[in-house]
Amino acid sequence: MPQPPRSSPAAAPSPAVSRPTEAGPLQVAVLGSTGSVGSSTLEVIAASQGRFTPYLLAAHRSTKRLLEQAHACRPRYLVVVDPEAAAAIGADALPAGTRLAVGPEALNDLVQQPEVDRVVSAIVGAAGLSSTWAAVEAGKMVALANKETLVMAGPLVMRLAVQTGARILPVDSEHSAIHQALRAGTPAEVTRLVLTASGGPFRSHSRAALAEVTLAEALRHPTWSMGPKITIDSATMMNKALELIEARWLFGLPAEKLAVLVHPQSIVHSLVEFVDGSVLAQLSPPDMKLPIQYALSYPQRHPGPARRFDYTQSMRLDFEPPDPERFPAVRLGHEAAQRGGTCGAVLNAANEEAVRGFMAGELRFTDIADVCGRVLAEHAFQPEPSLDDVRRLDAWARQEVVKWACV
Ligand code: MG
Repeated sequence: MPQPPRSSPAAAPSPAVSRPTEAGPLQVAVLGSTGSVGSSTLEVIAASQGRFTPYLLAAHRSTKRLLEQAHACRPRYLVVVDPEAAAAIGADALPAGTRLAVGPEALNDLVQQPEVDRVVSAIVGAAGLSSTWAAVEAGKMVALANKETLVMAGPLVMRLAVQTGARILPVDSEHSAIHQALRAGTPAEVTRLVLTASGGPFRSHSRAALAEVTLAEALRHPTWSMGPKITIDSATMMNKALELIEARWLFGLPAEKLAVLVHPQSIVHSLVEFVDGSVLAQLSPPDMKLPIQYALSYPQRHPGPARRFDYTQSMRLDFEPPDPERFPAVRLGHEAAQRGGTCGAVLNAANEEAVRGFMAGELRFTDIADVCGRVLAEHAFQPEPSLDDVRRLDAWARQEVVKWACV
């Protein structure tokens, strides 16, 4: 396993400026490359006409897919986080010029290398926090798809980014839309951020019908093609709850200035309202390749592989407020964004465990938000937690859900 030296955070390049093209392509570390966002990232890199090149691809244990990707795009490093999965990789399985590194520490070390220009943080769930933290610590420009990093530890991560000069560019489509619309005004001119939500596949279900929803039904999202965890979060609208918390820290606005609007077509990705009442939105067909490319190429734009509108076809845009009775998760998100502290970490961990329980047939669909609300209300709230406090309460919340699922 290679043991490269740690880079100094102070040595990080100015994050807001892209390197001149004569210096070669920007080197991208793709964390979670075998997932949905990771695979789309490799498509963006492949279509970038030499602007980007993969420096490392990392996955937890999907080694078959990871090796396929390595042969297709020839990164400098392949990182397998799970040592057991890595042990099954034969010596001749790697393409020439690609080296294998194993374990979470190796990933954190490689992410901090001076050659890394951009880090795409797309590891799903709480597991993505450590490597994202390493990237921010090294002052990198981070394309953040792992919303849990900000949900769990938003104030800590944003403070660290200020100290190291790291930039966090959202990959979440809603936050990317807000980031783009915010460029039209100053922070003092912003009165409201409105996150749009597709409403998921059960937008018109009654509360009674929601209790009977099956796993197969929950996995069929009407507009977005995503991994299973986020698809279920989208169906419960817990995804929007997590996004409210993410927006609260990413954009530094109080919870009162954040709102959710159901928009089934997923074409308006979010809206920003300014003091004069003007509202700016970002529109595009639902395709994660656009926000990924925006986060990689910011502050520039260039042609890319994302889908385009066909203006010869008629298009309809509907909006409606979310129903808090049928989708209580949104209210939990507002509460956690407003209280801050340990609420995001607890809500996120409880939800991850509850979704696991639903997928295993131990919990009903409507139990997910109910159990999350109960764990959130019962936790020992801390307004200014450390990273250790966050991790401890994360573990506590998971155990509480397990207990609840067993009774
Ligand atoms: Mg989103």
